[in-house]
Amino acid sequence: MDVVILLGAPGSGKGTVAGRLVAADKTLRHVSSGELLRDAVEHHTAAGDEADAYMKRGELVPDALIARIVADLMAELDGPRALLLDGFPRTVVQAQALDRTIESCGASLAAVVLLEVPDEILVDRIAGRRMCSVCGAGYHVTNLPPRVDGICDACGGALKVRKDDNPETAKNRLAVYRTQTMPLIEFYEARGVLRRVPGTGPIDEIVERARRAL
Ligand code: AMP
Repeated sequence: MDVVILLGAPGSGKGTVAGRLVAADKTLRHVSSGELLRDAVEHHTAAGDEADAYMKRGELVPDALIARIVADLMAELDGPRALLLDGFPRTVVQAQALDRTIESCGASLAAVVLLEVPDEILVDRIAGRRMCSVCGAGYHVTNLPPRVDGICDACGGALKVRKDDNPETAKNRLAVYRTQTMPLIEFYEARGVLRRVPGTGPIDEIVERARRAL
């Protein structure tokens, strides 16, 4: 199994791009660490209860907690040709844990796709972001509106604003990205696996650029 990491700031479009790539190619599997954590919080698992307070503040949850969740999932996976990791790793410690998981699963790191988006666009994307409360599909009030206002195209669920998309928490998440996640750019560049993809312009073009970078 190949592992592809989607790297980029909150609002850079990792989830949207991953969703489109997987819809077009059933041999891919999308794993979003944020979704895994939101699911754990909702179901009040031990990991979810621990993660909840960090997520509400827009901070990263402890490395060991998320690394374990992803490792457990990867150990169970059977079938996909490639895994698109969205939101994990987010620190160098997590990247090192992922290296160990990849080795123990007999997988290989195929590419790290960095979605590059200017700060002012990130802020606008986070402010307008909506999420389906049932299936987790992502929308944006102007850039990617649903066909019927407030209703998910895919499953008919009600759309909601993510709890951590309020302006204060979003600002904190962008700061956390700069200090804790951006060092990964150098980490993967040094290994020769980093592929930079402009994350602005029409969504179809961004997805096509990402597909070519896989
Ligand atoms: P996301 O949906 O990727 O924006 O993630 C939402 C929130 O989940 C983040 O702000 C963090 O609190 C937490 N989270 C997601 N992925 C990770 C990760 N790899 N490491 C630590 N915290 C994470």
